This record gives sequence, C-alpha cells and structure tokens, in this order.
Amino acid sequence: MELSCSVCSELYVPSEHVVITQCGHLFHHACIVRWLQRSQTCPECRAECTATRLIKVHFNVTAHNERNRPANAERSLMEDKIDILTSKVTEQEQALKQMQESTYQGVADQVASRETLMTLLEEVRLQNTVIQDLGNKTDECTVGLADFLANMFDSS
Ligand SMILES: [Zn+2]
Ligand SMILES: [Zn+2]
Repeated sequence: MELSCSVCSELYVPSEHVVITQCGHLFHHACIVRWLQRSQTCPECRAECTATRLIKVHFNVTAHNERNRPANAERSLMEDKIDILTSKVTEQEQALKQMQESTYQGVADQVASRETLMTLLEEVRLQNTVIQDLGNKTDECTVGLADFLANMFDSS
C-alpha cells in the first residue's frame, strides 16, 4: 500500500509529520497548513477544514517491505518443501544404512557364533584327549602297581 499526499504528490515516509482531517483525508502537516492558509476546505473533498482540527497520524510500520512479502513467502514455502524433502531423503538414507549395517551385523554374528561353536568343539575334543591320556596313565599306573605287587610277592 502506497499513500501519497495530494497536495505535494509525494509518498508518505513514516517519520514525516502526517495529519488526518475531520473528513478523513491524509496530508503532510506542512502541506495542509500551507493549503488552509489560502482555503478552509479539504484539498481532496472540499469539506470544511481548519488547522486546529487536524489529528497527527502514527504509522504502524512493519519490518518487512510490503511489496516483497508475497515473493518472499512463496520462496520460503518452496524452501520449506525442499527442506522437508531433503530431510525425508536423509531419513531414508539413514534407514537404508541401518538396514545394511544390521544385515552385516547379522552375518557377522552368525560367523562369530560359528567360530565360538568351533572353538568350544575344539576344547571338548582337547579335554577328551586329556581325559583319554589320564585314562591311559591310570591304566599304566594300574599295570605298574600290579607288576610291583607281583614282584613284591614273588621276591618274598
Ligand atoms: Zn504533502
Ligand atoms: Zn477531505
């Protein structure tokens, strides 16, 4: 929205002293005061107007430039959409990566458990051998003791 003073045809700048007349028309304070020195009527509508009944106008100015807002809004909407799409792609990439990792982990677990099993089997086999050795030694000892006892009885 662009407002201009109909006396000087200049656009209003928020910091300027702008006034509103009884009939509801806006003018620069200096412009309307100068105008009213010649005529006691509104330059816009010719309604009766006096300098004592002018009300100062305070513009409520926003930081955004009104003209750029629609373009900015559209662009930020597009940026939002791109952001959402990008985050979705990232999510999917991460999900895929996690799936791959868990598959690798599964295979690795299987390999590891097979290795553990092989190790255990190997240990069992070793212990069996040890037990067998002990058994053999016990047999030897038994044989040795029998021989010893037999010799002892023979010599007596
Ligand atoms: Zn003016
Ligand atoms: Zn007027």
